[in-house]
Amino acid sequence: MAVPQEYHSKQRRLIMIVSLSVASLLLLGLTQQPVLPVVPETLSAVKQSVQQTFLPQPPRVGLQIGHLDPEEQPDELASLRYNTGGSAFGVNEVDINRSTAYMLKDMLEFEGIEVDLLPATMPANYHADLVIALHSDASPDVNRRGYKSAYFRYPRNKWEPELKKAIDQAYFFFSGLPDDDENVSGSMLEYYAFNRARYKHAVSRSTPAVIVEMGYISNEQDRDFLLDPVNPAYALKRGILTYLAERGRYTFDDN
Ligand SMILES: [Zn+2]
Repeated sequence: MAVPQEYHSKQRRLIMIVSLSVASLLLLGLTQQPVLPVVPETLSAVKQSVQQTFLPQPPRVGLQIGHLDPEEQPDELASLRYNTGGSAFGVNEVDINRSTAYMLKDMLEFEGIEVDLLPATMPANYHADLVIALHSDASPDVNRRGYKSAYFRYPRNKWEPELKKAIDQAYFFFSGLPDDDENVSGSMLEYYAFNRARYKHAVSRSTPAVIVEMGYISNEQDRDFLLDPVNPAYALKRGILTYLAERGRYTFDDN
């Protein structure tokens, strides 16, 4: 039986319409994805959450109390379990480091900054806005005095020189102590708690960290300065705030 011509042309039209619709749907599907509207609120929320991942609010500062609880060092740092710090004229270094850290913690918290007090053992891959390792020196030469600091050789991130500069400037200005930079030691330049390449229990590479020797407990003038923790703590606080302000993490109240 012959199929009427009309049927054929209807069928062709139908096929054409269907194929055109499928083609346009496919095209729409292909072109629609890249032009999905970006909602600004969503984008800023994403940006904010990314920022928070790297720089938590409020700023956080780690203060390491040099030589505190050395017997708790992990196996990778077992050689430091007897590293109890210096002592001279009845003063123990660790006590100066501790009293300064507690005073500095109070001062920073008053400014709305969160502070972790850390022992000789650094938490694994510790992360914060910055870390200061607090030490004081002792020497058989009672005339030797002054302040010095160091970041890891070589700096582990671009902020460490900036942090050291801010801390040094404030410390010299507010303490009046002389510069003892010539006595910066190898153990300061390769401070174990900053040595992430070698130890798990060290400050994260992206966290700027500086070790300070706040003065000599073996020198009478330095010792008098250090025995009142307000003195070294205030100088360090000013340096820390200056650095945080430079990074946009703190605003000085000019009122
Ligand atoms: Zn020390």
